[in-house]
Amino acid sequence: MHWHTWLYLDVTPIEEGSARIFTGEERMALFADLAKLADELAHEPSRLKKRAAIAEAIAAVHIAAPESEDAGLFALYLAGMPFAEADPRKLNAGGSLLSKALLAVSGASQAELSREYKRHGDLGAAGFDLLSTRATERTRPPTLQNIAEAFTAMAAARTTAARASLVEGLLQRASPLEAKYLLKLMVGDMRIGVKQSLIEEAIAAAAQVAVAAVRNAVMLEADLSAATERAFAGTLAEARMRLFHPLGFMLASPVDSPEEAVERFAAKPHEGDEPEHVAAFLEDKYDGMRAQIHCSDASQPGRVAIYSRNREDVTESFPELQEAFSRVSEHAGALIFDGEILGWDFDTARALPFAVLATRLRRKRVSNELRAQVPVVFMAFDLMFAESALLLERPLKERRNRLESVVEKLTGHATASIIVDERARNAQAVLFAGEESAALSRLLLAPSRLVQSADEIERAYTDARARANEGVMLKAADSIYQPGRRGLAWLKLKRELATLDVVVTGAEFGHGKRAGILSDYTFAVRAANGELLNVGKAYSGLTDAEIAEMSAWMMAHTLVDEGFFRTVEPLRILEVAFNNIMRSDRHASGFALRFPRILRIRDDKPVSEIDTVERVEEIYQSQVDKPVE
Ligand code: AMP
Repeated sequence: MHWHTWLYLDVTPIEEGSARIFTGEERMALFADLAKLADELAHEPSRLKKRAAIAEAIAAVHIAAPESEDAGLFALYLAGMPFAEADPRKLNAGGSLLSKALLAVSGASQAELSREYKRHGDLGAAGFDLLSTRATERTRPPTLQNIAEAFTAMAAARTTAARASLVEGLLQRASPLEAKYLLKLMVGDMRIGVKQSLIEEAIAAAAQVAVAAVRNAVMLEADLSAATERAFAGTLAEARMRLFHPLGFMLASPVDSPEEAVERFAAKPHEGDEPEHVAAFLEDKYDGMRAQIHCSDASQPGRVAIYSRNREDVTESFPELQEAFSRVSEHAGALIFDGEILGWDFDTARALPFAVLATRLRRKRVSNELRAQVPVVFMAFDLMFAESALLLERPLKERRNRLESVVEKLTGHATASIIVDERARNAQAVLFAGEESAALSRLLLAPSRLVQSADEIERAYTDARARANEGVMLKAADSIYQPGRRGLAWLKLKRELATLDVVVTGAEFGHGKRAGILSDYTFAVRAANGELLNVGKAYSGLTDAEIAEMSAWMMAHTLVDEGFFRTVEPLRILEVAFNNIMRSDRHASGFALRFPRILRIRDDKPVSEIDTVERVEEIYQSQVDKPVE
């Protein structure tokens, strides 16, 4: 590591006419050290060696400047996060802004960028190649602090031009290697095969504390950098749960039949024992949007946050829910619910089809018309936090009991009317339940019951389908809540043809009435090393309005413009159906889909949860005749 020694001149006068000079040496961490380490990690297959290298680097940064934030920033940036998760600030620098800045600084042409991007599929790697040919004079290599300052300024910048010039300023000062990792950091994905959990382990090793203590602090405060500082300061145990940052969602594993579900839930306490049946709760599987609601925190009364499965704050899109849950604070302490947002028919007390809910998912401003056309409710099925305590470690049966009593207490309070009275809204008046005859309950409790046999599950499945729900969920009654895990404690049963969740990587302009519209999508699945590999192309299945919205979005999120084809930021997820899968070298995944059609846009899913090449292989193998192109 190379360190720069800085001399601080504090010009605050202590007495008239005098200035104090600090001679204390602070060695500020350079981004170059992080970039170099990141590049080494990308080529290091051993998890153990990776962890040791990260731990050593974090410890070195800490020792060099124990009082600074450097060690925390180092951990945060290495995880590919410009800001801590609990920090609401955003860089607001998408791939298109970054690629323009890269063109400006490197002097490269669109065609060159396009070539490099195609070669690497990664803006940072493309940047490295484009900048390597440029002769530069290196005067001021950026420190971690410099980068933190630039990020702060970017988050506060009012115009795209101001943000772009900050990015250009950083890239100007960066070596090709620094630029490579700066770009990756700003994109929010380092692609060095280092997950946050590995960095947490390295922090623990560097500070010689228990990994569990680090992980716990990160979960409670959602701040990797603060956890690093706590680890060195010995204050991890003082971390307290803060609301208003998303916790990970627990996910379910698929089963194909009620029998398989019963078998999965049959435990053998000891080898050779007869299997014992594990008590399991059964709920309908609703086809809406998974969400976590935080509300009723005494320190911020009335504040409500709704988070989607991809950890985005979607509160604005559901003003009715925000309104309803803001009323909860008079009747309960801080709460975190897990559940499903559903379009709801209040007359029949049934969920509306997902396609109806989808029409309002990406809207930020929700009109009265939309509120009336697609009324929404929150169907709660789990309680993650209540009475000042996280409940994740408590068994489901206890969480369920508490959920039931909370919902009962809030009945008649978590309400909002179908439409808002514009005059009342203008006068800043709030419509309270009781005063408003149309106030509707927006918090519903998902019915749940214990089941034992495959027959019972089969009947419940048929009933759920008759209510137009997707299928059923089975959840082990003794299971703890495992954030972000797809374990075997939750099972989902939905019998249908396999579909794939894929991410759009590029689009072509259509023909005929779709001329000028990006309507033919190329999409990818995820390889084991995190790379996105294309698996197919599709152009049918979406409505004209959806296609228009996707097209506008892709125009704004173009990474590489090749005229007829645009490579776009891999952020939009589609669920696609197909007749079968064949082996093919047309796409990088080695597979192609026959007769693919788009079932729906899945903006509720994060890219990290799209299907994998492994899953494609599995479906391929399960086909009776395995077609090869
Ligand atoms: P999938 O999207 O097919 O992986 O299925 C998992 C999703 O099912 C979750 O993310 C939820 O959005 C949804 N879901 C619907 N009903 C329930 C329920 N009762 N419990 C848990 N998840 C549910």
